[in-house]
Amino acid sequence: MEFVPGVIAPENLQGDHIWFAFYESKLLMVQDQYGLMVPQIEKFSLLGIEHDEPHYIGELQNNHCFAVSLKEEGPLPPNYVLHDLRRVAMMVDPFLFMIAGKASQVLDWDRNHQFCGRCGTQTEHHDQDRAKTCPKCGYTQYPRITPCIITLVTRGHEVLLARSAHFPPNMFSTLAGFVEPGETLEMAVHREIQEEVGVKVRNLEYMGSQPWPFPHSLMIGFYAEYAGGDIVLEDDEIEEAGWWPIDQLPMIPPQGSISHELIAGYVKKMSANGIS
Ligand SMILES: [Zn+2]
Repeated sequence: MEFVPGVIAPENLQGDHIWFAFYESKLLMVQDQYGLMVPQIEKFSLLGIEHDEPHYIGELQNNHCFAVSLKEEGPLPPNYVLHDLRRVAMMVDPFLFMIAGKASQVLDWDRNHQFCGRCGTQTEHHDQDRAKTCPKCGYTQYPRITPCIITLVTRGHEVLLARSAHFPPNMFSTLAGFVEPGETLEMAVHREIQEEVGVKVRNLEYMGSQPWPFPHSLMIGFYAEYAGGDIVLEDDEIEEAGWWPIDQLPMIPPQGSISHELIAGYVKKMSANGIS
């Protein structure tokens, strides 16, 4: 699938469009004979649900896509349902989830930047960019994206996994944390791991990234080799952490999350090397 992001809708749009409609963090979906999908209709107003002005977000395989906020949770037309975006991640194609996440981030940004953060005047939409400008002082606000590093620490056939109190019971994951102002991604990896579990790492290797729209993170995945120190939990965020042999892993986050991809990727690599 190909998605071409855009900000301004082309003129004289015709045919059906794809609507990523949200009530708070819940995405509007429709159940038809092919399964669960986002609505594809000419005008969103045909559904008869009170909504705000739609935002154009781009083109998905010749279909124009819009993000739109619902003003009410219901009543919804027959076969339409609202699903929490976190659940949607496990229900639809990862590519569709990524576009739904973009729509959610655009709506969240729009809602939270109605006024200038510097002088308090009501903002106006920029005429070309995804931005809001202040007509009084000229300050421009862009959608916020928060970089967050996520790391699998490895030690031969073992990996370091941890759990925070809000995880489902028995689930363990990789270590993650927000990048601070003035830090490189590498500095953030070293600092977070030291802060969360007290160990030192070396030989960082970039794995990949994933937008995570809760509400606007960009997860940046790394592998890091253990370089020394014992696990010491000083951060309140972590309830338990330990080394797990790759052939005896606990429950890990579901497929489609970057944490899962980091762990599965390492297991695959070690198995291919005959070390497991
Ligand atoms: Zn201003």
